[in-house]
Amino acid sequence: MFTPPLARGVPNRPAPRGWCPGALRPMLTGDGLLVRLRLTGGILDLATAHAIAACATRFGNGLIDLSSRANLQLRGVGEATLPGLTAELERLHILDASAEAETVRNVTASPLAGLDPAAVLDIRPIAKALEARLTSDTALHRLPGKFGFLIDDGGALPLTGVSADIRLTAIATPQGPRFLIALGDAEDLPIATCEPAQLVDCAARLAQAFIDLRNQTPARRMRDLVRSLGVAAIAEAADMAMQDAPAPADRHVAISHVIGRHEISGMAYLGVALPFGRMGSAALDHLATVASRHGATGLRLTPWRVILVVGISADAADAMLAELHDDGFILKADDARLHVAACPGAPSCNSATTPVQPDATRFSQLFTDLAPGGTVLHVSGCTKGCAHASSAQFTLVGHAGRYDLIENGTAADTPVAVHLSPDEVEAELSRRLRPIKERLLVEHP
Ligand code: SF4
Repeated sequence: MFTPPLARGVPNRPAPRGWCPGALRPMLTGDGLLVRLRLTGGILDLATAHAIAACATRFGNGLIDLSSRANLQLRGVGEATLPGLTAELERLHILDASAEAETVRNVTASPLAGLDPAAVLDIRPIAKALEARLTSDTALHRLPGKFGFLIDDGGALPLTGVSADIRLTAIATPQGPRFLIALGDAEDLPIATCEPAQLVDCAARLAQAFIDLRNQTPARRMRDLVRSLGVAAIAEAADMAMQDAPAPADRHVAISHVIGRHEISGMAYLGVALPFGRMGSAALDHLATVASRHGATGLRLTPWRVILVVGISADAADAMLAELHDDGFILKADDARLHVAACPGAPSCNSATTPVQPDATRFSQLFTDLAPGGTVLHVSGCTKGCAHASSAQFTLVGHAGRYDLIENGTAADTPVAVHLSPDEVEAELSRRLRPIKERLLVEHP
């Protein structure tokens, strides 16, 4: 039985239900311990990238996931190898002071922070300050493990649609930069604005209000509280005056703006996607080597399961694309796998009985002629549906190597066909896709 390690000499409490893993409190999965690394702002320098790749090889099974919160997850770590990994992470300065501090430090920031000429301001110091408040203010350690903050710099890669409980989006005003404050899913309905210097305090007060209010009103996330009480009650509990905040601009990031070579006012970057959010340690190591050879200043992790190489010229980005060809990354936005979301499945997850990812790769070939866009197919190892919480056109839920098919729903919804073999899935999806493709051909001949 796995016992969580001591957090720098402080015994960890038993992991509560609904906990989130970290580096100090790993989670036991089907392929060993999962160690999650929360890198501030998703900023990863090249030396640390090499070191993390080496850790994944030496202490784990060599597989690394990039989560939808831009965290790296080392998989297949053994109980015997965990102490060595913990020591190495401490040496790399990516360990928190305690498991509680680590768990609450969930801040997703714009991936090009500090580099994007289109951004309203450089949010890196603000993201750091918010993390410092979250880790030092022990009253906030009562937040649920999945509770997250999002800071969008208003730049070229908006975080619209990325899940968060407290959302802070920068806007330019005649008085200078301000942040729109929104709660849960209600990103179109900001409750107030604040100055950059007030952001940490505003976020902390709203988080404390969530903790206080859920004592009377059960809520797992901020969106639950918004549905139960409304945003005005939460703002009042946070001692925050509701304001007529301007509606946020309609900003969405297209995957074609993230993958491949891009330039913003002369600032180039290269995006490489991880199929279903996973790469091997050798791929990360090679990415860092190639990036270094072309003068990159670092890597940025994104919530879209894409790694950005930054600090390069446009020519270097083109050259890198050729050199990264054999590493298993997705280098083009029209890759059919981008239409498919898949969880780790078996054998990585204890809840799975089906090898979801190889099947997802196979099924993705059905989508080769669809234009780049969002998820069309979600392949899930069980009804929990970790890889895609919202509805998808098609969802497959695996049971012992066969699949139930759900149309226009989530993994928990009622299937329209059950116990399909992978061959039958392929035939069924082809049949159901035909009218969709015909319609697309009519709309975009
Ligand atoms: S959806 Fe189920 S099988 Fe897949 S990762 Fe989540 S719990 Fe595991």
